[in-house]
Amino acid sequence: MDIGAIGKNEKKINFIADSGLVKMKQIYLLNNYSKLAILSILAGYEKCDYIYVNDRFSKKVEIKSLNNFISYTLNHNIAPKKFDIKISYNKNFNGAKNTLPLNKYDGILSFSGGIDSTAGLLYALSKKQKVLPMWINFRQRNNYAERKSALKILRKLKIKPVIISIDLSKFILKGWKDWSFIVPGRNFLFLSFANSLLQNSERQRGHIYLCAHKDEMGHKKNRDKSKYFFQRSSIFFSRDGTKKITAETPFANYSKAELLSLWKKKWEKKFGISPHETTTCYYENGCGRCEACLKRVIYLLAAGYTVDQKIKVNPMTDPSGLIINKWIPGIINGKMSRTNKLDFLIAVEKSLDIVPEKIRKFYSNLSGKTISNIKKRKKEIEYVKI
Ligand SMILES: [Zn+2]
Repeated sequence: MDIGAIGKNEKKINFIADSGLVKMKQIYLLNNYSKLAILSILAGYEKCDYIYVNDRFSKKVEIKSLNNFISYTLNHNIAPKKFDIKISYNKNFNGAKNTLPLNKYDGILSFSGGIDSTAGLLYALSKKQKVLPMWINFRQRNNYAERKSALKILRKLKIKPVIISIDLSKFILKGWKDWSFIVPGRNFLFLSFANSLLQNSERQRGHIYLCAHKDEMGHKKNRDKSKYFFQRSSIFFSRDGTKKITAETPFANYSKAELLSLWKKKWEKKFGISPHETTTCYYENGCGRCEACLKRVIYLLAAGYTVDQKIKVNPMTDPSGLIINKWIPGIINGKMSRTNKLDFLIAVEKSLDIVPEKIRKFYSNLSGKTISNIKKRKKEIEYVKI
């Protein structure tokens, strides 16, 4: 199926489907927004602004605001250029109608087998909501570990996910460095596939769960997890279809350590799933050296968990110098959020016997006020409610 094109410059347009660069089994999910989402990712990797979607949009959808929205999702602070996306589409599109039978889903949840999405799934189950976990395999770098832990957790919960396989490996391998490990606009792709399934549901209302937590929802961090991103996507999907679709997260008011504390208190025994069964690492399962591994351990420790047993090296020993060169300077120049700073200090406090001397010194020089704030924060995490 010809999904459209991206232009490398103002004149040249490449038809992607013809070159076989995008391979996907679930072509029934290819509607206007999911085509746009794939093309946006490719535009991100190819650093181009022109997107042509081989599909139609309803008249209620303003293309100008769609341009702004896609530019917004790509203009992450690590983006290799400033995007000014211009979308055109095939007004005469008359492609095959979606022939999928109607389904009964109330909600679709983006599931990666990581801490946040697993917590989201446990939350939904505890509320007795019927959600379908959706996992996207884009041949990402940590794909194997992610898949393994995602499927293991779902097997334990006796839930069958829908797995979307989309081969963007040619782009990802080439553009990985340009985008510092992230897939540009990745979450809009998930939302679009979820929307496509929900448009085919018998239900009059559709929920899309993307489990972002409080600290991720500002504009600066993740463009495709911000409040604005959730709001705009909900509007676009609802305007184009026949029902109200809401993209949301259950954890908008919780930090990661708080979410883990909820897990410990409410879901661990009930569902028999521990956060240690999830995966986070940028490289493989538990390298202990990357920032994802460090953050994971910080929040686990702050929430009263221990370091993962299988981790190759304890990130609190600062094997890559991330604590000395990034976290401590971040605290000193006041650029870190209050909860991040205090969660980090709790993790240091619990690791005083293994952290390098410099970090121990930094901790012992903290002011009395900071120490009492650490105490307050510990209580905050322990007594969190949902
Ligand atoms: Zn790692």
